[in-house]
Amino acid sequence: MAEKRDYYEVLGVDRSADAKAIKKAYRKLAMKYHPDVNKEPDAEDKFKEINEAYEVLSDEEKRSAYDRFGFAGVDPSYGGGQGNPFAQGGFDFNDLFGQGGFSSGGYSGFGSGGFDDIFSSFFSGGGRSQTYQNNRPMQGEDRFMQMNIGFMDSVHGKTETISVNVDEPCPHCHGSGAEHPEDVEVCDKCHGTGTVYQNVRTMFGTMQQQVVCDKCHGKGETIKETCSTCKGTGYENKTVRIDVKIPAGIRDGQRIRVAGKGEAGLNGGPNGDLYIQVHVPEDPVFKRDGDDIFVTVPISAIDATLGATIEVPTVHGNVDLKIPEGTQPNQRFRLKGKGVISRAGTGDEFVEVRVEIPKKISKKERELYEQLKGTAAESPFEKFKNVFK
Ligand SMILES: [Zn+2]
Ligand SMILES: [Zn+2]
Repeated sequence: MAEKRDYYEVLGVDRSADAKAIKKAYRKLAMKYHPDVNKEPDAEDKFKEINEAYEVLSDEEKRSAYDRFGFAGVDPSYGGGQGNPFAQGGFDFNDLFGQGGFSSGGYSGFGSGGFDDIFSSFFSGGGRSQTYQNNRPMQGEDRFMQMNIGFMDSVHGKTETISVNVDEPCPHCHGSGAEHPEDVEVCDKCHGTGTVYQNVRTMFGTMQQQVVCDKCHGKGETIKETCSTCKGTGYENKTVRIDVKIPAGIRDGQRIRVAGKGEAGLNGGPNGDLYIQVHVPEDPVFKRDGDDIFVTVPISAIDATLGATIEVPTVHGNVDLKIPEGTQPNQRFRLKGKGVISRAGTGDEFVEVRVEIPKKISKKERELYEQLKGTAAESPFEKFKNVFK
């Protein structure tokens, strides 16, 4: 290996460059010589060199030692004839994996994505100052359930009381999981940030890796004595009865949201919501389309012929419907405002008449029909006759 180059020269910065300038220069070069990007034969060596220089110059202590003593100030083996540790047959795997906590971070070993991890830990803008968000309050997951309701309940709405299991904040610790408020302590390993920095030695030099704090698992705090009521979980699982308001006019398949009755939140975050999907069965009498209702009612041929006032069902109760004389089979009548009254508006009811022809008639009826048959062609019965064909 060639003579070791001065670290400042490697990064192409002035000896008086500040940390920001050093980082910027490093990023630029590392990007350029990253072996995944740069396929030139010496790219890997360059990349190692850059990383080594950056590792020293980005560390205030090491940088000042280097400024004062040169390579010997930062590498005890330097001057002992060994030079750059990387010059002697690459890296040492035992060393690499011997690092305690190596596997506790997001770093999954070398070769299989590990490289990206190293890379991204440096290039995720401001990565050094960002904290892990494991202690951030997070809303719980939403929950879903199904509910069958009657057709009339779907039209008029109702309040249905259901029992659900919910995790409610523990009444003793209010979600902290600690027996006493003072039992919640700032994690002394990560000082509350939830992350720690680890020096990871790689073939490209020692790198600082941000990993989740193994003591507090990223929460940034530790509990001295866990809450005796909830055993430290911070919540209590309870069966509660809740009144679910089903709005008038709800349709099959629609969902009702019940706020805060989903899964428990994390780190003091709110619960998720509960969504109830409503199933409405078909009704044998009332067919619904939008907010309109359709019914079919049987009428006698005589009522159809002569006209009549008939009682018809609506979702709001029976009403009288006047049908004119000469009403035709399957003729439709509209009852305004007698459909579903929902938030979207008010529907109508459409009544279709089914003219029923008697299958059996008495002797007396037969005589009367026979008499009718003999009357004038202009009679309304003329049309009726056609129906009979
Ligand atoms: Zn508790
Ligand atoms: Zn910690």
